Amino acid sequence: MRSCGPCTECCTRLEIKTLDKPAGVSCKHLDGNCSIYAERPEVCRNFTCTWLHGQMGAMDRPDKVNTVVWAAYDGPLTLFISGSSKKVRKWAKKEPYPVKWLE
Ligand code: SF4
Ligand code: SF4
Repeated sequence: MRSCGPCTECCTRLEIKTLDKPAGVSCKHLDGNCSIYAERPEVCRNFTCTWLHGQMGAMDRPDKVNTVVWAAYDGPLTLFISGSSKKVRKWAKKEPYPVKWLE
């Protein structure tokens, strides 16, 4: 699996109900990196985006393309996409899963 490196895109783009954080708003614990990393909630520990799993182009790290893709069951396994990268959208159209665009 790849590593997040300096990316923190999901800390802004995703809705995180546990933290009362709406989508598109930076987490209050985000200070360059996660300021509560050792104590971050389980939802943060468990989240892995599709890029992190080694799919998509190596250069398409979410912070580079301002777009996060992740897979979750919404009925069938579905790709959720937050962001407007045309390159990522083109990639997603070739995948065999339903896609939900969140913006
Ligand atoms: S968007 Fe993906 S690569 Fe970026 S911090 Fe979140 S899990 Fe890591
Ligand atoms: S708690 Fe940390 S890992 Fe979780 S969204 Fe906030 S900054 Fe990101």
